[in-house]
Amino acid sequence: MENKGNSNNLMDKIVSLCKRRGFVFPSSEIYGGFASSYDYGPLGVELKNNIKKAWWDEMIKKHGTIVGLDSAILMSPKIWEASGHLTAGFADVMAECKKCQRRFREDYVGEGKCPECDGELTKGRKFNLMMKTFVGPVEDKASIAYLRAETCQGIYVNFQNVRESMRLKIPFGIAQIGKAFRNEITPGNFTYRTREFEQMEMQFFVHPKEADKWLDFWMKERLQWYVSYGIKKENLRLREQKKDELAHYSKRAADIEYKFPFGWKEVEGIHNRGDWDLKNHEKHSGKKLSYRDEETGRDFIPHIIETSAGADRSALTFLVDAYEEISGGRTVTTQSIKESEVILKLNKKLSPVKVAVFPLSKKEELSQKTKKVFNLLKVRFESQYDETGSIGKRYRRQDEIGTPYCITVDFETLKDNAVTVRDRDTMKQNRIKIEELEKYLSERLA
Ligand code: ATP
Repeated sequence: MENKGNSNNLMDKIVSLCKRRGFVFPSSEIYGGFASSYDYGPLGVELKNNIKKAWWDEMIKKHGTIVGLDSAILMSPKIWEASGHLTAGFADVMAECKKCQRRFREDYVGEGKCPECDGELTKGRKFNLMMKTFVGPVEDKASIAYLRAETCQGIYVNFQNVRESMRLKIPFGIAQIGKAFRNEITPGNFTYRTREFEQMEMQFFVHPKEADKWLDFWMKERLQWYVSYGIKKENLRLREQKKDELAHYSKRAADIEYKFPFGWKEVEGIHNRGDWDLKNHEKHSGKKLSYRDEETGRDFIPHIIETSAGADRSALTFLVDAYEEISGGRTVTTQSIKESEVILKLNKKLSPVKVAVFPLSKKEELSQKTKKVFNLLKVRFESQYDETGSIGKRYRRQDEIGTPYCITVDFETLKDNAVTVRDRDTMKQNRIKIEELEKYLSERLA
């Protein structure tokens, strides 16, 4: 259940920070907005790209048994028939308010009353979540296509293409990052649930006998990934799904859940999908999707372990977890900040801006020198140049967006060619020679 009070306050603060500092804007704002759509601003796009890169590197580089794919959003509608998405499988049970006509996911409303106007709700009925469109010049039944509701179907239908072209042997995986679309009945909680979102999915093809072992392996791996990028352990949990919660394709599954201000909620699903996907695509396409066991010479359908994370949900998770407010402020150089200060303690690899460079004052000779330092660093690290306001204010501006390092160029710099580097978390300041800056920062940001 939603937790009102302080926790909503925290979400309000995060939504406001996101808008004010260029992480996330409401979509179509000048036209009054468009429900449940958001645009990532300059800092948001960096954050999301960093998260996607962290995921991609983890999958592709760390394991060495996983390859990438970027399949099309628009695919043959036959795929969605085979996958069960066009039938009852991919539907939410929805109830409509008889008074205000709003629709709600049945599992979100208790007591049969409308949460908006207290009107009476109809009995629940299935509502398909696929988004429809038309492909080609004629809008008729034959031209109906669907925006993909999950990225993994593109992986299943390319199973043989990828396996053959890359000469892969099981166990191996295929990873993909991309947009997915669902006509969600109850979007909300900022970017947590939207109708257009990005997924980071990996499908691991295994021998049926090894499916359980790999499911356990991936549950641990994926949980650890969030921890390794700084999510506090106490805010994460792995929850195995009960039999009656399992999706139609799933044999055993677990959700990685995060303790959001609005409750414990899923950020990633890990499923043992068995042979459901390949078997169904084989049946519907008439093409062989089996794998030959080299030892026995027998063909079998590999089982699939899926790890399915949301890039937007991950970005929200990292933002919420990193948000810290220090009431009463903290002492920064010679200035003591009395108001409360916000620090986004993002993992340094995820921070949208890595380095901010400040001249101590706006004096020409200092700003010239500072711009030189900025130009040196900006090709290597996402950098900002800032000369407005007191140094304390500039530190605070950077703390609020999670910049790990702030560099100040002062009058001494003109003599000793060294600058002050301040660390976001420890607030320690180190005097570093300009020629050593790049090395100093890359060691700490790697
Ligand atoms: P939920 O129960 O929250 O609707 P789901 O179980 O339907 O999610 P999956 O189909 O397992 O979700 O999708 C995998 C991941 O994709 C989710 O863990 C989530 O991170 C992301 N995701 C799914 N639906 C949305 C959405 N509407 N908005 C943002 N991210 C989503």
